[in-house]
Amino acid sequence: MQRIARDQSVFKLSPWNDPVAQASPGDTICFETYDCYSNQITQENQVLPFSGWDRVNPATGPLYVQGARPGDILRVEIMDIILDSQGVMRVGPGSGALGHVLTERKTKFIPIKDGKAIFNERLELKLNPMIGVIGTAPKGEEISTGTPGAHGGNMDCKRIGKGSVVYLPVHVPGALLAMGDVHALMGDGEVIVCGMEIAAQIQVKVDVLQNLWLPLPMVVSGSDLITIASEATLDKAAVTASQMMLVFLQQALGMDAQEAGMLLSLMGNLHICQIVDPLMTVRMEFPLWILEAYGYRMN
Ligand code: CA
Ligand code: CA
Repeated sequence: MQRIARDQSVFKLSPWNDPVAQASPGDTICFETYDCYSNQITQENQVLPFSGWDRVNPATGPLYVQGARPGDILRVEIMDIILDSQGVMRVGPGSGALGHVLTERKTKFIPIKDGKAIFNERLELKLNPMIGVIGTAPKGEEISTGTPGAHGGNMDCKRIGKGSVVYLPVHVPGALLAMGDVHALMGDGEVIVCGMEIAAQIQVKVDVLQNLWLPLPMVVSGSDLITIASEATLDKAAVTASQMMLVFLQQALGMDAQEAGMLLSLMGNLHICQIVDPLMTVRMEFPLWILEAYGYRMN
């Protein structure tokens, strides 16, 4: 399996990044990733400046996928996420939604033992390894790996884990796929702006889908189809994620908007992904079995 080393990383997803590796459709590639602090934290009492979004979230890549052309869809199947042996969290004044009540800075290492996060002597937490940042080159602009968007990026969607499939837009030849910011565990919202940040090895299988329309970014995870939207407010992101699914149901199942809206109101579930990044991210989850009842199967 081809491996991309973690020092081959970028802080911007950009059509102008030079690819660091190439793959063909059907290939499996291992992206070795730093934690979101570039593995710079080695002691809990270490003094590190709290910096802005421009030097966090290194994303390994970008990978050039042969045959991917603008207008295609990049299909990325997450085959495995192999975690390092411990994660780290940092909080302080200004951290996320609770920064106004966090007066002290604190850094905490969280070791992993027997597949569980050892939060303290009382609590062992079940892991849910997920990819915080995964995206392709945006169209005509570069976007910080701190920001989510239509190209993917820092979506912090906890449903992007082992076994899930992420569908991303192709805006430039080769798509230029990059990823990082793995969390061993994160709650919806990511309220203090970090999950259990950890270095990892992500194994993905890449494919190129042609002559297909999907609302992007889209994810298949477990028994759900998921649309993901990032907007300036949670309200707007919730509407966009819902509308993306509505339009998909119309296109894929041939429903009118009224019928699709009713079904979405009955069977769709909105969830917050994160409320702490430069844009807010919301997802709409919809059961795959309903698509299958109409004879529609996701590629
Ligand atoms: Ca993140
Ligand atoms: Ca993170």
